[in-house]
Amino acid sequence: MSYRPNVENVTKAGSNDKEGLYEFIVKLADGTECRVFYHRFPEWRLTNISRLQKTPCPVCRKDFICKCMDSFAGDIGRQVEDGQWFDKALAE
Ligand SMILES: [Zn+2]
Repeated sequence: MSYRPNVENVTKAGSNDKEGLYEFIVKLADGTECRVFYHRFPEWRLTNISRLQKTPCPVCRKDFICKCMDSFAGDIGRQVEDGQWFDKALAE
């Protein structure tokens, strides 16, 4: 089983600019949405990821909470950075 997340869109869900804490909703190409928390200082760092339970998990097919997305945090975080999604999401 080799799931490949593909970041399609990122929107800001919340932030505390003073503390450098940001919450984004990351939408993947297969319809999966994840809530992703970032800490900005000293550099952007993904601190937590969890799947929104709108659609079943694309990995284990559960429709309740699971930890599968943790394994893809690195990949998703890389795509968010490579796609310069921070700039786009924060400009909204
Ligand atoms: Zn899962």
